[in-house]
Amino acid sequence: MDFDFSEEQEMVRAMAREFTDEAVRPLAESIEANHQVPGELLEQMAELGLMGIAIPEAYGGAGLGETGLCIVMEELTRGCFSTAATYGAHTSIGATSVEVGGSEEQKARFLPPMAAGEVLGAFALTESNAGSDPAAMATTAQRDGDQWVLNGEKIWITAGDIAGLTTVFAVTDREAGVKGLSAFVVPAGTPGFTVGKREEKMGQRGSSTVTLVLEDVRVPADHLLGAEGSGFAVAMKTLDRGRLAIGANCLGCGREALALSRAFAQEREAFGKPIAAQQAIQWMLADSATELYAIESMVYRAAWMCDAGRPFSRESAATKLFASEALDRIVDRGVQIHGGMGYSEECAISRLYRDARVTRIYEGTSEIQRLVLARDVLKNG
Ligand SMILES: Cc1cc2nc3c(=O)[nH]c(=O)nc-3n(C[C@H](O)[C@H](O)[C@H](O)COP(=O)(O)OP(=O)(O)OC[C@H]3O[C@@H](n4cnc5c(N)ncnc54)[C@H](O)[C@@H]3O)c2cc1C
Repeated sequence: MDFDFSEEQEMVRAMAREFTDEAVRPLAESIEANHQVPGELLEQMAELGLMGIAIPEAYGGAGLGETGLCIVMEELTRGCFSTAATYGAHTSIGATSVEVGGSEEQKARFLPPMAAGEVLGAFALTESNAGSDPAAMATTAQRDGDQWVLNGEKIWITAGDIAGLTTVFAVTDREAGVKGLSAFVVPAGTPGFTVGKREEKMGQRGSSTVTLVLEDVRVPADHLLGAEGSGFAVAMKTLDRGRLAIGANCLGCGREALALSRAFAQEREAFGKPIAAQQAIQWMLADSATELYAIESMVYRAAWMCDAGRPFSRESAATKLFASEALDRIVDRGVQIHGGMGYSEECAISRLYRDARVTRIYEGTSEIQRLVLARDVLKNG
């Protein structure tokens, strides 16, 4: 057994950490206040090669797989969850959906500009009546000669307004249930493909979340990802990987919350001594450190399984479920340790508390992860 990261992975971590400390964390407050991740920051990430970190080298990426992506995600989230979420929409679910669903020709065509960060990706599955249950989606795609015509509306799409290429899921055969869903790559600027409402959110306010409207959107036939009817499989395979990256987000956010809590506890005095001297505070720090160790172990073991080509759906669901629920406890303890200051908008821990909450909701709620896990346990033991 070898639990060490490779030299290359350590170098990526060091680079991502330095970038986060120098360029990302100092902007976190303004990203929150302006509800926007600056385009220049994304360009810097592209220059560092981060946009294609998990994309295979054959398609212009760094080929560092899910483990490499999780390392970068963990580090970025320590500095700014909104930036990491925007990055994740591109790398973790946007580009990944093309990688897992596309033919060789499609991957060779679409992935290199995504790896270079010239084209950002997004993933559009959710609709107003189809969140946990994608089979209920109303968006349709109909074949017309050598084109597909898409109609419908997608909601809650992270970075949908800045993406150059969005993977859109649509019904191609209503009678076939989940086997009647197909995935399409839709370039920004295609006539009829427009950005609608932008959500005002509780947290991750710098990460844009928008409605995408499709009105008679025509894409060439070869923009169908993989085979007709494979859309549900493409979505699930993508989310298996996406959920690991969310685990890494939880790890980064939780580490930052613990660091802030530790610093505050050592500085703040009550009853004539630092509150860190109180066992009640020490136990909160100890519980958070323990949960972070568990998240770290789950994320990187499951990422290793993914990169080794082993089945990892159960591990992915368990990682996302545990990491997101543990993160909620960690940021809650962080607010508690900060006392009244923890409830102030001036204090970073309050932002982390709000940013964390959605990890139990997106890319499958905790209830859906339990459903996936229970089905697997009942079927396979
Ligand atoms: C900030 C943010 C960013 C997002 N980004 C994206 C994105 O980039 N792309 C995208 O496609 N989507 C995105 N989403 C959508 C997200 O994935 C969905 O919100 C999520 O899957 C839940 O769907 P829903 O909101 O429709 O809730 P619902 O499915 O309506 O669920 C409501 C409640 O019912 C529960 N529930 C539903 N079915 C069951 C069941 N069978 N058993 C037990 N409980 C159940 C749920 O767990 C939940 O508690 C994003 C959402 C948010 C908030």
